[in-house]
Amino acid sequence: MKQMILALDQGTTSSRTVLFDRQGKIRRMAQKEFPQIYPRPGWVEQDPMAILSSQTETLREVLDGIDPEDVAAVGITNQRETAVVWNRHTGKPVYNAIVWQCRRTAEAMEALREEGFDQVIREKTGLLPDAYFSAGKIRWILENVEGAREAADKGDLLFGTVDSWLIWNLTGGKVHATDYTNASRTMLFDIHTLRWDKTLLQRFGIPESMLPAVYPSGYRFGTLSSSICSGEIPIAGVAGDQQAALFGHGCVSPGAVKNTYGTGCFLLMHTGQTPVRSCHGLLTTMAASTDDRPCYALEGSVFVAGAAVQWLRDEMGILKNAAESEAAARSVPDTDGVYLVPAFTGMGAPYWNPRARGTVVGLTRGCRREHLVRAALESVAFQTRDVIRAMEEDAGCKLSAIKVDGGASANDFLMQFQADIINADVFRPACVETTALGAARLAGETVGLWKDGETLPAGQENGVRFSPEMEKEKRARLLKNWERAVRCALFWAESE
Ligand code: ADP
Repeated sequence: MKQMILALDQGTTSSRTVLFDRQGKIRRMAQKEFPQIYPRPGWVEQDPMAILSSQTETLREVLDGIDPEDVAAVGITNQRETAVVWNRHTGKPVYNAIVWQCRRTAEAMEALREEGFDQVIREKTGLLPDAYFSAGKIRWILENVEGAREAADKGDLLFGTVDSWLIWNLTGGKVHATDYTNASRTMLFDIHTLRWDKTLLQRFGIPESMLPAVYPSGYRFGTLSSSICSGEIPIAGVAGDQQAALFGHGCVSPGAVKNTYGTGCFLLMHTGQTPVRSCHGLLTTMAASTDDRPCYALEGSVFVAGAAVQWLRDEMGILKNAAESEAAARSVPDTDGVYLVPAFTGMGAPYWNPRARGTVVGLTRGCRREHLVRAALESVAFQTRDVIRAMEEDAGCKLSAIKVDGGASANDFLMQFQADIINADVFRPACVETTALGAARLAGETVGLWKDGETLPAGQENGVRFSPEMEKEKRARLLKNWERAVRCALFWAESE
């Protein structure tokens, strides 16, 4: 009896395979890191073969001793935007994978903005031209790798985000496909018509023959080849990591929000069947779903979140470890009027000022380490609130709760303060493997592993709910001061 689901979680620094049972319990897990390649400052690459082998090794390790007959389906979730180009006859990559973080196309994207092409991109793809997205990376490979342009024009080359690269290899080269969520991060996909866009392909000089077929996230993409395992296990769910997490949290209806608290924060708000255009610089992207009807989300990020805690630990030397920040913050009743705006790399949504810089305001002679630590944690919650407010304004709906994951979501002080500041519940599920869980749910639902209405529990039963306790006046005062502090950080940029 098929009782289990595999999730392949191909992340930026490591590949993992997680085996879930039908109750959503983790039965087995294996993880393998792979090398990052930094050919020049700001450039980030990975060897596609190393990505693949780290993934298949963890897959084999998890499957060892398991009867493939017991596995109902495989779901794939992956680092988004990273671009791989390979030869369809030999299966060999023509260049390293250009990773989402790589800035090599930043100038080219700036040029697109200057000529006003950003409006076209925005209209069709929901994105703002940026070096993150795949289109510029593919063009770079075609223009800079010897023979690549000719081979592409002859139809010999294939492009894929990491999910496509894995699907192609895991099906023995039979299937060249991706899902809506990954396609929506390439900057080549029209999220309204659900097709590769000819104008954009032409603008970036990319032949359509390179591109994968695009399907909903819940779809039978193919089966694992016999070289991987002996059973007929279907690949039945595919989604980019942030969208998989949204789905894994059970955020599948309009207004549902998840926030991942890592180095930065990644927020996604489900907007149902409507692509919402942002007036605050948020991205419009596709959400994962198990039926043909496309679903959409608004996406915003906070550049410096857990990284502010790292900064206090590594550069300021006032914390031994990140977890210690909680006790330090709790040891004082408030920040004593201190606000930290960690705009180390400028400010993102909804302010968008690349020249803003980190700012501490309200210092008095009595300010101690604990106050600064508390101000750093509070800044994570304030920045999250700013993005949420932008989402609410764009989507025209008020959220009632957010679901959370990521390393810094372990901090109970931060989670309570977050609930207080957004005046909504914050729910942290017991299973923090939300991304893998999302991929597993997509795959399991697609093959009908659960009966009507039943699904993998999104962890609602076991988790911690933080409910707002702060008085209205206090919240208003803190927010007003935060906004003043942000103005100081922006003023610093203006008067340069
Ligand atoms: P990433 O995936 O971005 O590497 P993680 O989800 O592993 O991030 O989370 C790590 C980040 O969370 C670090 O920036 C760290 O400073 C922060 N962090 C981890 N634990 C805590 C904690 N208990 N309190 C506050 N911040 C924390």
